[in-house]
Amino acid sequence: MKINVKRVRESKLTKVNFSDLGFCKYHSDHMFIADYEDGKWSNFRITPHEDLNLSPACTTLHYGQTIFEGLKAYKNKKDEILIFRPDKNATRFNKSAQRMCMPTFPEKYFIQSITELLKIDKRWVPSQENSSLYIRPLMFAMDSYIGIKPGDKYVFIIICGLAGGYYSEPVNVKIETKFTRAVSGGVGFSKTAANYAAALYPSVEAQKDGFHQLIWTDGKEHKYVEESGTMNLFFVIDNKLITPPLGDTVLDGVTRDSIIILSKDLGIDIEIRKISVDEIINSLDNNSIKEVFGAGTAATIAPIKTIGYKNKKYHIPQLSRDSISSTLLKSLNSIKYGETEDKFGWILKLN
Ligand SMILES: *Cc1c(COP(=O)(O)O)cnc(C)c1O
Repeated sequence: MKINVKRVRESKLTKVNFSDLGFCKYHSDHMFIADYEDGKWSNFRITPHEDLNLSPACTTLHYGQTIFEGLKAYKNKKDEILIFRPDKNATRFNKSAQRMCMPTFPEKYFIQSITELLKIDKRWVPSQENSSLYIRPLMFAMDSYIGIKPGDKYVFIIICGLAGGYYSEPVNVKIETKFTRAVSGGVGFSKTAANYAAALYPSVEAQKDGFHQLIWTDGKEHKYVEESGTMNLFFVIDNKLITPPLGDTVLDGVTRDSIIILSKDLGIDIEIRKISVDEIINSLDNNSIKEVFGAGTAATIAPIKTIGYKNKKYHIPQLSRDSISSTLLKSLNSIKYGETEDKFGWILKLN
């Protein structure tokens, strides 16, 4: 892959207010682009982050043939840049692509395009505590054609945005039993636009009632919990860490997978099994549930404070310092920021 580079005249880095990074309020200076035409990828380039030219007949705008990924780069104390498990995102990206009838982007290219872009935007990887550079690869059909069929032309892009802490306080979530995010046989496991567009309305309704997020339940019976917003879910019940299994309705989170591996390594008792809403409500009623948290790249580990279900609100007791979620967060962050040995081979260091 030969990449053409066109640099910005002037960096926007001087305009960043580092004391208030938010989440992707600031984009880095450059982006990566590649085109797919006649059955192959070409025209690999790094350009200033700029608007695209799109036909109003672009099929993606009408039919949503588009997928994305999300991963982060961190800076260690030696000012080296560490990327967390990009190979997992590469694999998942292509799994999403296949489900959406899109071409795959070779994993080697996926990793290389991220590293080459980060070499150019390396000053954008922040060094403050809990901050990172969020990396957003995406791909969509570029055909200008009002008719439904898989596209012939695609574009693969990577943009980056600065990320501070995501949720600054524990979150309130509502168990959703009317609307559905994903059904068996559908596209729930794919990071594709349809899942997020369909989730907006129920999420906004829940926000009106003071919730940050929803806990999605299975689309068939609304009986088992699946995941939450853009996070996978974990529960600590009777001192066991429990997370729902994957399947085609749940996104296979890199954070979820890392937590499962870390838990086993730390000797935390972990179970991967279905959890019913009834079990959660019962264990809230009898105080056997000690922790609930979401896990995803953007938020890392987000402790859940309140769960709403059928007009009732249940409160999770305040977490102790040695809670399972804070132990996992510390141990995950120490790997991400290069403070402990990378014993699972999760870090790709930029050289
Ligand atoms: C991205 C995402 C997650 C979390 O995946 P990570 O790889 O851990 O960031 C979970 N659920 C949904 C629906 C997502 O889009």
